[in-house]
Amino acid sequence: MRFVSTNDPGHRVPLKQAVLASLPPDNGLYLPERLPRLDPGFWDVWRDLSFQEIGCRVAQAFFGEDLPEDALRTIVNESLSFDAPLIEVAQQQYVLELFHGPTLAFKDFGARFMARLMRWLTRDDDRLLTVLVATSGDTGGAVAHAFLGVPAIRVVILYPRGKVSGLQEKQLTTLGGNITALEVDGSFDDCQRLVKAALLDPGLASRLLLTSANSINISRLVPQIFYYIHSARLLPAGTSPVFVVPSGNLGNLTAGLLAERLGLSVERFIAANNRNDVLTTYLAGDAYAPRPSQPTISSAMDVGAPSNFARLLTLFEHDLRAMCRRIGGYSVSDEETLAAIRDVAANYNYQLDPHGAVGWCAARQWHHNHPQANTVVLATAHPAKFPETLDRVLGPGQVPIPERLACLAQKTKCAIPMAADTSAFFTWLRQGG
Ligand SMILES: *Cc1c(COP(=O)(O)O)cnc(C)c1O
Repeated sequence: MRFVSTNDPGHRVPLKQAVLASLPPDNGLYLPERLPRLDPGFWDVWRDLSFQEIGCRVAQAFFGEDLPEDALRTIVNESLSFDAPLIEVAQQQYVLELFHGPTLAFKDFGARFMARLMRWLTRDDDRLLTVLVATSGDTGGAVAHAFLGVPAIRVVILYPRGKVSGLQEKQLTTLGGNITALEVDGSFDDCQRLVKAALLDPGLASRLLLTSANSINISRLVPQIFYYIHSARLLPAGTSPVFVVPSGNLGNLTAGLLAERLGLSVERFIAANNRNDVLTTYLAGDAYAPRPSQPTISSAMDVGAPSNFARLLTLFEHDLRAMCRRIGGYSVSDEETLAAIRDVAANYNYQLDPHGAVGWCAARQWHHNHPQANTVVLATAHPAKFPETLDRVLGPGQVPIPERLACLAQKTKCAIPMAADTSAFFTWLRQGG
C-alpha cells in the first residue's frame, strides 16, 4: 500500500517513508492511496471477535501488504494491552472509556502502535533509531511511555523548563531506560525549533537515524479505528451509535470516519468542541477560519487550526454538504462543562473528565432532539488527571487516584538541562546523548 499526500495526489510513498517522515514535504498529510478492505466475511462475525482480533483485522487491511501477519499481530496485541469498557451511564447514553492505558489518555492507543510499527520498519538498520519529541505537556508523556522498553529505539523528549505541570513533568522525567528528558531553557516553540532543525540537518542525518513522533502520523490514526468497531459491537444488536468525539486536532474523529468507510454502521458523528470551535462554525456554513487557540479547562482540545482538517476535506472530496450529512458540530463553554461534571456525578454517580464532559454536553443536546439515539461519548482522559477542576466541582479528594498516577509523587525527576540552542543540542545528540 502506498500513502498519498492530501496536497498532491502525485506524491505517493511506501509505508516506511510515511511513518518515519510523519509529514509529506508539501506539508499535506498522508492517507492511504485507496480505501483498505477488510476481509470478506468480517462483518458477519465482527460482534464475536475480541478487541485484539478486531485490531488485527483492521491493521491487516491497512498494513497487510507491508508486514507479515504474525508481526502485525504482535504489534496489535502489545499495543492493546488494556481494555476500553463501554459504560451505560444513563439510558442509551454510553461512555467509552479510552483512558485505561499507561498515561490514562486515549493517545496511548495511537502512540503504542506507532512505536512498535516504527521498530519493525527499522529492524534491518543497525543504527539506533532516535525519536525526537517536543512537548508542551501531555503528548510527550504518552509517546515516551509508548516507546519505553521498545528495543533499538531511544526517545529524546524536549520540554520547556517551568512550563509544564508538576504531574506532567513527573510523567516525562521519571521513566529512565531508553527515555531521556531534556529540560530546555526556553519555550515550547524553542523545543519544536530544535527538533525541526535536527531532522533537517544533513550532518546529523548521515550519522543518526532520526525521526519524530508527530501526532499526525498515519500510524497513530489506524489504531484509533479499532475502538470504534469494538464499542459498536458492545451495543444491543441492531443499534447504530451516534459517536460523540471531544475534538481538537480531529485525529480521533478522522479515525471514526475511516471506521465507517470500512463498513461500520454509524448513525452520525458529533464533533464536540470547546470554545475553540473552528470545525463547528465551518459545519454551520462559515468559511474555514483557523485562529489562535484560546485557553479552556479542556486544554487538550485548545486547537485553533486543527491539523487533521485536511484529511476530513479529502475524505469528503471538499463537499461541505456531504460532510454535514455525517458530522454535527457543537461548541461547549467552560461553564457548561463544569455543570456537566457536577450533574453527571450527582445524578449518575459517574465522574467525567473535562474533555469527556464537553462530549457529554454535546450528546445531551443531540438527545434532546433525537430521544431514540444511542450516544457513545468517547471519554478521552481519566478524571484523576485534572484534580484542580474536579476538586473545584466535586469537592477535594472525591476522585480516586489510580496507582499509576499516585506513585509518581515518590519518583525522582531526572532531566538534562539544555540551552535553547541548536549547536548545543546537536553536539549532545552527536555524542550519543
Ligand atoms: C488529544 C486529546 C483530545 C483531542 O483529540 P484529537 O484527536 O486531537 O481531536 C481530546 N481529549 C484529550 C484528553 C486529548 O488528549
